[in-house]
Amino acid sequence: MQISVYLYALIACSGLTLSALENGSDAPALLLVSFDGFRADYLNKYSLPNLEKFFSDGVLVRELTNVFTTKTFPNHYSLVTGLYAESHGMLASIMYDPVSKKHFSIQNDSDPFWWDEAIPIWVSVEENGYRAAAAMWPGTDVNIHNHTLKYTFKYNSKVSFQARLRNLTQWMTEDKSVKFAALYWEEPDWSGHRYGPDNTTEMGNALKEVDSHIGFLMDHLNKTGLWGKINVIITSDHGMTQCSPERLIELDKCISAGSYTVVDLTPVAAIIPLEDNSTVYKNLSTCHEHMKVYLKNDVPDRLHYKNNERIQPIILVADEGWTIVKHGNLPRLGDHGYDNMLPSMHPFLAAHGPAFRKGYKMSSFNSVDLYPLMCHLVGISPKANNGSFARVRCALVNEQCGELALAVGIVIGVLIILTTFTCLFKLMKNRDASSSRPFARLELDDDDADDEPLLE
Ligand SMILES: [Zn+2]
Repeated sequence: MQISVYLYALIACSGLTLSALENGSDAPALLLVSFDGFRADYLNKYSLPNLEKFFSDGVLVRELTNVFTTKTFPNHYSLVTGLYAESHGMLASIMYDPVSKKHFSIQNDSDPFWWDEAIPIWVSVEENGYRAAAAMWPGTDVNIHNHTLKYTFKYNSKVSFQARLRNLTQWMTEDKSVKFAALYWEEPDWSGHRYGPDNTTEMGNALKEVDSHIGFLMDHLNKTGLWGKINVIITSDHGMTQCSPERLIELDKCISAGSYTVVDLTPVAAIIPLEDNSTVYKNLSTCHEHMKVYLKNDVPDRLHYKNNERIQPIILVADEGWTIVKHGNLPRLGDHGYDNMLPSMHPFLAAHGPAFRKGYKMSSFNSVDLYPLMCHLVGISPKANNGSFARVRCALVNEQCGELALAVGIVIGVLIILTTFTCLFKLMKNRDASSSRPFARLELDDDDADDEPLLE
């Protein structure tokens, strides 16, 4: 009783609550921003004063473990659904569905068929009676589950970062029911592919521009009265690694061109055999020491990349920095898509706003954990997902975490000691009181009166 009162008082005094959902109607809006291809260690290698200012007053997660394949569409859909690629169905930048015989590419992505295996957060937000807004985030201009956003753009890479943000903030300030907004920007991915991440001059220029966009974002949110009022998350989909003409894997050297079809090529190739599966598999599996070859059912479980009809019968995975081609030259100096265990494939995350701790740093979490966190922030129930709110909740100011657990431990310890001393004191006091008369009588050596004090 005494302990529970102390705990209640402690929690009440600290303004701390258990991990209940934010009340949706009271929850501040959330702005999610992705800078495509922002590799986690760019934070250590380049000067990013605006980004540092952003997270110095908020949260920094140095590294996110993203999902396989570490490509743009799979990872952007995982961020907003909390699902691995095999579960949300957006498996690569180029796909083929053997049942419907449909083809998907990032230039031909607006058929809901490809997106309907999952329900992204913006659809759930609107199903809960709020509005969502989006600027170029993959999928936000698609009619997913018969739901088209009112506040969105058709994808157009020529629209500036500033214009994307201005539209979002206008929608957010004019319509208070907007709870969730998502913004996508193409850099530093574009420069990473063109120059390779080892080109520090070009990457330095690209990241300087990205950092200036973050500076604009803070200024603009200040001017529109949103800074400090809304929650803002800046993150990315994947990293980037250096490729080289010295690290080419040429399929034509291992297998006849007529024996297979390639759906997607590098660094994860999706192969449909046109001849006997086992012969094609055998030829490919001895093709190159820097290329792993899997029959679909043998893809390692940790990659979560086999339970979907859109995954082709044979999957080839190049080692880091190696490029798979049929023949010919290196297509790009930088690439991503490789094994999601590789640190070079990992992005970062930073967050700022009323829900987040200030000056708090975490080493890592999984990118699928972001979805339950975002649902919590906007006050809606998450759909079934592969993420964990428990792994990320320490980023939030209102969650019980390390410090509170320690404080509760100290209070319980002090209470136990106090209770023990109080009991001992009472026992000794009772003993003193009850022993004064028998002691006197013992002196008199009066056997008949031994039990008398006990009868009182
Ligand atoms: Zn890319």
